[in-house]
Amino acid sequence: MRAEKQGIANKGTLIDHHCIKWGILIFRIICFTDFNYVKHRWENHPMNAQGRVNQEYPVLTHLNFRSVMGREIDVHVFGYGEPTTMVIGGIHGNEPCGIDLAGGLIKEFKTHSAPYLESRVVVIPKANPDGFIAGTRVNARGVDINRNFPTKDFHRGTFTQNCNPGKLAASEPETNVILQMAAIFRPQFILSFHAELGCVNYDGPGVQIAQAIAAENGLPVRKDLGYATPGSLGTYFGVERNIPVITLELLSQDEQWTRHGKAILKAIRMSQSE
Ligand SMILES: [Zn+2]
Repeated sequence: MRAEKQGIANKGTLIDHHCIKWGILIFRIICFTDFNYVKHRWENHPMNAQGRVNQEYPVLTHLNFRSVMGREIDVHVFGYGEPTTMVIGGIHGNEPCGIDLAGGLIKEFKTHSAPYLESRVVVIPKANPDGFIAGTRVNARGVDINRNFPTKDFHRGTFTQNCNPGKLAASEPETNVILQMAAIFRPQFILSFHAELGCVNYDGPGVQIAQAIAAENGLPVRKDLGYATPGSLGTYFGVERNIPVITLELLSQDEQWTRHGKAILKAIRMSQSE
């Protein structure tokens, strides 16, 4: 009887030991997984320069930038160090040639990136993915992203339905991706692709870069598009913040990279050597 009791007691101690051992093991696994998760997040964070150096071509999808309909908005970051050039395609969803051209630039950097690694190029190839899927200029809430920037003249003037600025400035997630990336990387030159006017438009101190682009792609330089653009990216960054902004108005019949690739690379190099 006594021996039996002893056996039960020993069994109890054994079970306790097992519990403790397994508990410690599970605790260690959780700590290890969590540590690696946090480490991964930090190494990929845009504020962490080391992370960018380690990763040759990071795509910042982990920042979870989403459109109104929840589609991912990718941000590609090439190189590191200052100055930064920001390139944006497809703010207007029904202008897919800008998305093609931004895709051409990404491909170029992935195959011949060496000359640009001394400084940084941030590419947002498809800034309005919902508009792209729907084939509309505006986003899924019917707002024109290129009229939704928080400019001093936001919402002034009359707007057609196609150029609806939204009720509030920077109300749209697509606008905020660009604003946040600009706040983090502080670009010194911004290049935005549109269609179908076939010209090189500039805001802010961008005339020399515009002329250099025009010399390569043969499109005319135009300071003014002939209509006011309150709430536009060009007004916000170019006119109000004195950053050279080029709005490259493409023609959809062109093979985009063939016509504009050289011009874009030249403009990026020019802005980085200034
Ligand atoms: Zn456009």
